[in-house]
Amino acid sequence: MKKDCFQFETRIADLAEGRHDEAALAHVGSCSDCAEHLRQLQIILAAAHEPWAAAPVELVATVKGLMTPQPRTVFARLLRTSALAGARAIPDDVQVVLDVEEASMRVMYARMDAQWEVMGKLPSSAWTVELNARPLSTDEDGRFSFAVPAVEATRFAVLHNDLRVEVPPLQELLSSGPSNPR
Ligand SMILES: [Zn+2]
Repeated sequence: MKKDCFQFETRIADLAEGRHDEAALAHVGSCSDCAEHLRQLQIILAAAHEPWAAAPVELVATVKGLMTPQPRTVFARLLRTSALAGARAIPDDVQVVLDVEEASMRVMYARMDAQWEVMGKLPSSAWTVELNARPLSTDEDGRFSFAVPAVEATRFAVLHNDLRVEVPPLQELLSSGPSNPR
């Protein structure tokens, strides 16, 4: 870089941004290094001003593919229940309808001897279900069931794409009450 070039460095950047500068232009006209520098700056600035919609479809798809979707966790809300409102004891047999954000889901809880059985049906085959962070198997209609030793252990989660819906244990669901009582 010549002494003149150093002196014009920031002024050439200004030229690239469209500022009028006779002296800088004159230098660029007589210096191939700075002419090339200006040309590259102009390409970079033009690309920066390019609207996103102009990005090639394939490029956008590639960039999206590189980004790991961030899972979003929400809690299921109780829409309806067969349990009596305000009942203190947890019944031996309870049906609930849960709002799982994008759909609703019916789940049945039943006390069987020393354990609780939970049976549910996923909103669609696009959903999966997890118990203690382990996937549960479902039948072709999305039905699943599991048994746990205590009502406190009836917590599970249903997942759909990047959405994770935590279903609290039964006693918590019932104590929260229906979110939109009718
Ligand atoms: Zn120069």
